[in-house]
Amino acid sequence: MVRAPPAVQDQGEVIPNPAGGSKYRCTIPKADGQPCGTVISNTKGSISSHRKIHDPNSAYNREAEKFDQPIPCQQVMADGTLCGAALTSKHTMLRHYGSQHRHSGKKELLFAKYGV
Ligand SMILES: [Zn+2]
Ligand SMILES: [Zn+2]
Repeated sequence: MVRAPPAVQDQGEVIPNPAGGSKYRCTIPKADGQPCGTVISNTKGSISSHRKIHDPNSAYNREAEKFDQPIPCQQVMADGTLCGAALTSKHTMLRHYGSQHRHSGKKELLFAKYGV
């Protein structure tokens, strides 16, 4: 069995589902002290992938961290103008590039381009 990192203890409760199977409610305290409350499938995979959002050291959280100030997107549009969309975190950047510029390369290259 894979042990969760110390910062992410096994905190949650199983919710029986009358329709069969069961759900799992995460009760890990969030940054504001309130329990998370997110309900996910009661499987090891979804529980451990959900818990990543509570691990301050996870790549997920490092990428979700806001930049000191928004970075304007430097991608040149079809009409030759700069996109200029405000990118506020690596997450926003990845989402924006994925949906607006069909970016499919390595995210590390994208981060390097912006020096983040
Ligand atoms: Zn949670
Ligand atoms: Zn853009």
